[in-house]
Amino acid sequence: MGRPSPSVFASDRVRVLAVNPEVDVTTGAVVGLGGRVFARAEVRHRYPPSPLDVVAAVSELIDHLAPGGTLWGIGVAIPGLVNEATGAIVVAPHLGWRGVPLAALLSEAHGLRVVVGNDANCGALAESLFGAGRGCEAMVYLNGGASGIGGASIMGGSVMSGSDGYAGEFGHTLVNTVGGRCDCGATGCLETEVRRAPLLAALGGVAPTELSGELLRQVPREGPAAVEADRQLQFLGIALRTVVNVMNPRRILLGGFLASMVQARGFEIIHAELSHALPGGDSTVEIVTAELGSNILAVGAAQLVLRHIIDDPLGANELAHTP
Ligand SMILES: [Zn+2]
Repeated sequence: MGRPSPSVFASDRVRVLAVNPEVDVTTGAVVGLGGRVFARAEVRHRYPPSPLDVVAAVSELIDHLAPGGTLWGIGVAIPGLVNEATGAIVVAPHLGWRGVPLAALLSEAHGLRVVVGNDANCGALAESLFGAGRGCEAMVYLNGGASGIGGASIMGGSVMSGSDGYAGEFGHTLVNTVGGRCDCGATGCLETEVRRAPLLAALGGVAPTELSGELLRQVPREGPAAVEADRQLQFLGIALRTVVNVMNPRRILLGGFLASMVQARGFEIIHAELSHALPGGDSTVEIVTAELGSNILAVGAAQLVLRHIIDDPLGANELAHTP
């Protein structure tokens, strides 16, 4: 008689709520193992939500997405700096939050395990497991959004979080000594030189949702949108040169409007800048675009808490939610 072969199946029963509070909307999604998104909903805000507004929004999302059902935990992606050990928000500038014990507030209100992380870290984690970073041991992820450029790096399968969890602020890499003033107080950061708003303006004021690689490909080569995109790509290339020299990634993933620009205007401008990196790193790095689209933060935030459940299943008492 042979030994029984253990088989492991991803259980559909293990479901968590992924939450992403933003200035105008808090998005929620029920996510299972393997990055499967079962349902999504959102609660809109007329003004940037307070922490208690988000606690209330999460109640609404649970009532809507998992009525009478069971959730194993809550993972939260925050646009700001997070103390990963405590789940407290150190600062989330666009929400206007500072020193908010969000994990404790949500856990107390909902009786569930709550894990909070930076949104770019969540994006990088999701892409590394289920997207364009699959199988890559050393990757850097940069995402361009309305409020700036977020980033994170994954080395050996783990997010590089630094001593206090704040690593990966690639948006504040110096790229132009005579550049614009940045929200961080410095001058000429990547996110002051590479911005979505001037690109949309050069396109004649198109809506952010309409910006795509396809749209940028159709603009005249000498026109304002192409000139602006090329100028921004040069600064992006300068930042990536530093990234390559410092991190030696195998793959760099670009998301948001950075992906649209690089898809439309080619990878040549960036590779021309990377040719000035030290020999070695530049010859093996791949520049690719992120794959996961609108579910990326939900999948990454869910993964934060799912990893805890997998590491410590007995600590994850399945708490029935009673609406
Ligand atoms: Zn800055």
